[in-house]
Amino acid sequence: QGALLAGKRGLIMGVANDHSIAWGIAKAAAAHGAELAFTYQGDQFGRRVKPLADSLGAKLLLPCDVMDEASLDAAFKTLKEEWGKLDFIVHAIAYSDKSELKGRYVDTSRDNFRQTMEISCYSFTDVARRAHDLMSEGGSLITLTYAGAERVMPNYNVMGVAKAALEASVRYLAADLGRDGIRVNAISAGPMRTLAGSAVGSARLVFKWNKTHAPIKETIELEHVGGAALYLLSDLSTRVTGEVHHVDAGYNIIGMPKASDLEE
Ligand code: NAD
Repeated sequence: QGALLAGKRGLIMGVANDHSIAWGIAKAAAAHGAELAFTYQGDQFGRRVKPLADSLGAKLLLPCDVMDEASLDAAFKTLKEEWGKLDFIVHAIAYSDKSELKGRYVDTSRDNFRQTMEISCYSFTDVARRAHDLMSEGGSLITLTYAGAERVMPNYNVMGVAKAALEASVRYLAADLGRDGIRVNAISAGPMRTLAGSAVGSARLVFKWNKTHAPIKETIELEHVGGAALYLLSDLSTRVTGEVHHVDAGYNIIGMPKASDLEE
């Protein structure tokens, strides 16, 4: 009863360090009885992820760069051989050239547009197709998105466009995979101090702005995203799919801040 993910096996993609959103979700999942596997992007991240994975008793730690088809093939092949089936995947991967996470969106280059879309949007579809093969008994896939998909946020630029495409792909994937019992949802997290988060220009201002103008005047921490992920990954949400669930202290509902908020 206390363990929402007992007996379930899940793959966590996107831990870079102990500030990563994927790490917050991994801790929550492990605390609720899930057996976890991790992927990491390249050896440098691998060295940092290993002790984290070890601390949760994870035995599978696999290299995987989503730009490299062969590494995705290899990771899913190992999962199939070792586990045979998979119950959930957490996709917490995004990238754009830092030089275009400031200034104007209109100046986005073709190369970085393509790269941002591939890593931050297409990779989730690619992973979902591979996951389908391992989820004959159904499953739950989640990805991470941000308010910049819905409205213009300063400096978020091409990443906002990629997140909009990611949110649309959550709906298309949910429609495709629902008949096979696979649910697909996104968590739209408020601004958090992570490696990827701090690559966006004026990150500190956005961080402060969210805290001041959201209904709940607190920052969003790893355990808050972890809690929402537990619900989406577990059987508590078996009739929920295609959703974008906000964990942003309520920021998304505000049209205009109260005068008293502006005075603070
Ligand atoms: P993070 O830097 O800890 O995680 C980003 C991860 O993406 C890293 O682990 C990195 O290795 C991985 N990655 C990038 N390119 C990759 C590639 N080619 N192949 C494999 N992995 C690759 O930062 P985070 O904030 O935890 O980011 C996780 C997700 O959460 C991202 O999708 C991000 O856009 C989203 N998000 C972040 C915030 C925030 O404020 N930090 C808010 C909402 C959504």
